[in-house]
Amino acid sequence: ARLPGSGRTVFKIRLEPVSSMRLSRYFLPILRDAPKEAEIVSHRLMLRAGMIRQEAAGIYAWLPLGLRVLNKISDVIREEQNRAGAIELLMPTLQLADLWRESGRYDAYGEEMLRIKDRNERDLLYGPTNEEMITEIFRAGVRSYKDLPKNLYHIQWKFRDERRPRFGVMRSREFLMKDAYSFDLDQAAARVSYNRMFVAYLRTFARLGLKAIPMAADTGPIGGDLSHEFIILAKTGESKVFCHKDFLGLEAPPADVDFDDAAGLQAIVDRWTGSYAATDEMHDEAAFAAIPADSQVTARGIEVGHIFYFGTKYSVPMKALVTGPDGKDTPVHMGSYGIGPSRVAAAAIEAGHDDAGIIWPDAIAPFRVGLVNLKPGDAAVDAACEDLYGKLMGQGIDVLYDDTDDRPGSKFATMELIGLPWRLVVGPKGLAAGTVELKRRDGGAAEAMSVDSALSAII
Ligand code: ATP
Ligand code: MG
Ligand code: MG
Ligand code: MG
Repeated sequence: ARLPGSGRTVFKIRLEPVSSMRLSRYFLPILRDAPKEAEIVSHRLMLRAGMIRQEAAGIYAWLPLGLRVLNKISDVIREEQNRAGAIELLMPTLQLADLWRESGRYDAYGEEMLRIKDRNERDLLYGPTNEEMITEIFRAGVRSYKDLPKNLYHIQWKFRDERRPRFGVMRSREFLMKDAYSFDLDQAAARVSYNRMFVAYLRTFARLGLKAIPMAADTGPIGGDLSHEFIILAKTGESKVFCHKDFLGLEAPPADVDFDDAAGLQAIVDRWTGSYAATDEMHDEAAFAAIPADSQVTARGIEVGHIFYFGTKYSVPMKALVTGPDGKDTPVHMGSYGIGPSRVAAAAIEAGHDDAGIIWPDAIAPFRVGLVNLKPGDAAVDAACEDLYGKLMGQGIDVLYDDTDDRPGSKFATMELIGLPWRLVVGPKGLAAGTVELKRRDGGAAEAMSVDSALSAII
């Protein structure tokens, strides 16, 4: 082919739709041995599976396989934020210190803030969170109570100079966060916005294949009961948690939940806050002891999300005012709502793995199917694999096709390690008998079956 006007010949390379991949052309730097520096299983497996690479303490490159997971997590979060009425924008990572001087947090934030000077000696910082900036954006664009409620969010990198970055991307210094910010006329309306995010979080974590329990969190000087941390139970969690066994069986709200029905939202929140659940910071030994002993769960937990109502903490000093129905200016009531996709990726591995490697929930697996060619170069096997690869892609299923000439044992070990939900194996013996072999990563034996049965099981 010729590029119009260039006179140059461009060669046609066969490009796969972005969602599928041939292993021979991929970048998947697998480590056979467990890296010594990794203390917890998710960190070990992410390094071994070629998902991440540490570039400096607590600063990671996301390699292709890891990036696919991070993007899938972000996509689920985005869909559920949008469903709940939040609106996406994108704020920069670098912020002016002057903005934080307005709220009084520039000095208060402490050593977790990475402070930077530009060539004009102006103070900047790499944002650890965005309350100040979103308040500035809001006050420049909204004047009247008629424009409320509003909820604005972004999915952007944050930097916190953690005292002890550790456990890989679970507690890194640079990490991805979805942070949403709600704006309302008064506390009652802000509570509805809070409930919307509460319900969106229940749906988000359920879709991510994770059981996250909302636990009462400290609201600091503002008081009230409007702060919850969403916690996944895992042996390697950093905090000790206590809850009622009932939480383990609760069903997340359905996709058609009505986010405009304030009473309906409150009923869901009431159900999910009706039983005891607290981290050690908020633990009330007497209240916990009142639960029947066989319903008490004491465990360790990972904070994957945190929602917070903080009233007029920023809108008063930063003068984010709207004109109310009475014609008077009044500071808006705000809340903020965070989830860390980087940490969620690691937490999902803490919750799903075995001795051989990762076991991804379907929703965030980097590929849905690992297609293994046991004998590349064998015309019949190659043709069957190409056929399966094409048909699965045609159904919108992402496939990692191992077309390399590695030994079968090593191919299987790689597939177990990277944890794709389905493994589909094609070899000469099976083909001669008209079968391929299908196996779920989360359990069940490998089963020989016809190509059609395998396809219909996966699709
Ligand atoms: P932690 O208690 O673990 O330090 P935090 O309470 O400081 O977290 P928030 O300010 O509530 O974190 O941020 C919202 C979310 O961002 C957290 O729930 C978590 O998912 C994620 N997060 C926070 N710090 C980190 C980090 N250092 N590395 C990865 N993710 C993080
Ligand atoms: Mg912290
Ligand atoms: Mg915390
Ligand atoms: Mg928190």
